[in-house]
Amino acid sequence: MSGSLRLPGFVDAHSHGFQRALRGRVEGGDFWAWRESMLDLAGGLTPGQVREGYARTYRELLAAGYTAVGEFHYVGLAEAGAAVEAAREAGIELLLLLAAYGRGGLDRFRQASVGDYLGQVEALRNEGVRVGVAPHSVRACPRDWLELIGAYAEREGLVLHVHADEQPREIEECLAEHGLRPVELLAETGCLGPRTTIVHGTHADEPELDLLAEHGAGVCICPTTEANLGDGFPPLEGLLARGIPLSIGSDSNIRIDPLEELRELEGVARRLTFRRNVIPVDELLAIGSAGGARALGLEQWPDVEVDLGHRSLTGVEPGDVPAALVHGCGADVFR
Ligand SMILES: [Zn+2]
Repeated sequence: MSGSLRLPGFVDAHSHGFQRALRGRVEGGDFWAWRESMLDLAGGLTPGQVREGYARTYRELLAAGYTAVGEFHYVGLAEAGAAVEAAREAGIELLLLLAAYGRGGLDRFRQASVGDYLGQVEALRNEGVRVGVAPHSVRACPRDWLELIGAYAEREGLVLHVHADEQPREIEECLAEHGLRPVELLAETGCLGPRTTIVHGTHADEPELDLLAEHGAGVCICPTTEANLGDGFPPLEGLLARGIPLSIGSDSNIRIDPLEELRELEGVARRLTFRRNVIPVDELLAIGSAGGARALGLEQWPDVEVDLGHRSLTGVEPGDVPAALVHGCGADVFR
């Protein structure tokens, strides 16, 4: 077979560009030990390093078939501008998800008040930057921050992304502080709606999944990062049974390959259900493309071109190409 095939480009709904630099460096320890290394790296970043490093990461994303990215950004306002420039330089579509960080983390992550945070969002929007709001997590945002950010997103029609239920400890802390699990708190503070994406949702229980479904919220799963960090298995049967919209993210960028993310997603589903073809191939490909565009509020994003003459597609019948891509190819099959 020769020639090429055009597909909708893959959409990376959750990326932290700077974490690409950690690959190979911090194996060992648990999630919280990894987080310490991540904080060390984040602490020293300059806008120039963000500009250069993110442009490199974004060029890798493009080479791997991602044509749009949601950058979940929590390392400062000047650095947000640098991330936007990096995306322009690399030629990838970007939605900047500016993180609200009220407490914990490093000084540079935090805004002085929620008013300050919303002022930063407005400033970026006034500069013409495509922005979504992103309370970092229920760990980093107090209740009143969540309420005001949820109301702002609703009023302005912006997407809202938030990390939730990635680690059991985060749930225990949320229960201790609020008597609620993270998704319950997000629902109560007006942060759940059809433009909301929960990132991870690994340890969401059944009532939390019901809440997501009732509010039309989606979940972004980051399979290679969740595997690398030992987060756990996403509750795929519950997500699929409720028809909760899914998307994928490269997150820590430990791996940059949308086909591998989708293969891992289906692999997890197969291991959990003892069945095959749990998520049919066309649906998997749609999770990787249109699902991400939905999460980022994008109506249009560029296509990607498959090299049908690539050695990993030799001997594959034309009708089998989509399944061969997901189950038998790496991202080097894209031109
Ligand atoms: Zn993340």
